[in-house]
Amino acid sequence: MSEKFDVTVIGSGPGGYSAALRLAHKGAKVALVEKAAIGGVCLNCGCIPSKTLLASAHVFNLAKNASAFGIEIENPKVNWEKVIARKEAVIGGLRKGLTSYINASKIKIFEGRGFAVSANKVIVEGNAPAEIETSKIIIASGSTSTEIPFMKFDGKTIISSTEVLSLSEIPKSMIIVGGGFIGCELGCVFASVGTKVTIVEALANILPLEDEWISKLATREFQKLGMQILTGKKVVGCENLGSSAKLSMEDGTILEAEKILVSVGRRAYCDQETIDNLKLEMNGRHIKINDKMETSAAGVYAIGDVVGTTYLAHGAYYEAQTAADNALGIEARIKDYTLIPRAIYTFPEIAGVGLNETKCKQQGIEYSVGKSFFKANGRALAHNEPIGEIRVLRDKSGKILGVTMLGDTVTEILAAARALIGTNEKIEDIVFAHPTVSEVLKEALLGSTH
Ligand SMILES: Cc1cc2nc3c(=O)[nH]c(=O)nc-3n(C[C@H](O)[C@H](O)[C@H](O)COP(=O)(O)OP(=O)(O)OC[C@H]3O[C@@H](n4cnc5c(N)ncnc54)[C@H](O)[C@@H]3O)c2cc1C
Repeated sequence: MSEKFDVTVIGSGPGGYSAALRLAHKGAKVALVEKAAIGGVCLNCGCIPSKTLLASAHVFNLAKNASAFGIEIENPKVNWEKVIARKEAVIGGLRKGLTSYINASKIKIFEGRGFAVSANKVIVEGNAPAEIETSKIIIASGSTSTEIPFMKFDGKTIISSTEVLSLSEIPKSMIIVGGGFIGCELGCVFASVGTKVTIVEALANILPLEDEWISKLATREFQKLGMQILTGKKVVGCENLGSSAKLSMEDGTILEAEKILVSVGRRAYCDQETIDNLKLEMNGRHIKINDKMETSAAGVYAIGDVVGTTYLAHGAYYEAQTAADNALGIEARIKDYTLIPRAIYTFPEIAGVGLNETKCKQQGIEYSVGKSFFKANGRALAHNEPIGEIRVLRDKSGKILGVTMLGDTVTEILAAARALIGTNEKIEDIVFAHPTVSEVLKEALLGSTH
């Protein structure tokens, strides 16, 4: 017997659960289908576990450097078992809370693999098979780690970001293939707790989506943590020796480590039966959508990593809101992807919103830059965090085009930077609390006006 719903959401990651909640809060009868754990990659093996491990690594770094604050801590040690247990507890608590909220919102959770047989029918396979009749479908099936064909994941020596978050011991050495934000964040965790970390990046800079000054400054700071950063090096071969693996580079260099973390991006994932049955138009591996998050099949929407627009949890939230509203007949459109903030939780943190200098140059936009530095900021110095810089870009008319930041806690002032883009309020009239790191943002904003 099939059950009837207004909207069926496939996938319970940030895209799926936030779409389901918005729909339910607006009165729709919603089915949420999940084949693994509620919360998707973000909660179970992405944003939250990585930030939890980074928090432990940060505390350890503080303990090691405590004497700079006049605090003597003799020989601080990492209890890795507790670090991992804490990470599990944080995830578990959040998952329990989210599941209760979903249930309290009267959303029906279906556990199992869901696929669409038509735009109005979803089949759930698993321990509790089900047939769902639905008016609308939202596909939020996310992504998986990209595998390199000659470096197959074995879950032990050659691992993805999923396994690295649950290692039972601190490895002596680790090569991270790929210097994107995930590789760099995890590199900071393991370098801090004593692993000999080497990042190998094929492009000229790590964090290649950021401006060169960010990559250069981040490289210098990561090196201070003990990381080796090799750029312009392409891995062409891999020999898995069981307890370690050897990687060969195009230039003939051979590197060996106990763990190889392959972090070369995410691969959009959608069930092939859904694609075939709905005859979805694809853009490579991504489901093709318009600015209302509509797919080529009427009444079917797609959001989050599976559409490949941002590969960020908050990008998925934004798209979820748009898709949910349209599914309810409330017109909503995605406005500007450049206004989706970018946050990288490395040591130091990196954040940006709007256009950066590279994008302005590529688009031939004339811009001026206001800069301000952490070394002159009271709060940053009080925290022994003198390294950092904020740059504000404006066009000829004075409009703020973008803000790029590197330094302690900059991810926390990113929302303020975003809120300032497009406002007409004079910066002089906005009072920033003192002493706060956000004052560096104010100085850069003021510096960009003359
Ligand atoms: C290590 C790491 C750190 C990250 N850190 C950040 C960060 O700090 N900030 C940030 O914004 N982003 C971060 N991300 C990216 C973020 O996790 C993703 O962008 C986000 O999870 C995408 O959400 P989603 O809803 O599209 O899909 P996902 O979170 O991938 O969820 C998709 C869900 O769909 C389910 N599913 C798939 N197919 C089916 C099916 N046929 N039937 C039933 N269920 C199905 C899957 O099991 C999964 O639970 C990180 C990613 C990683 C790997």
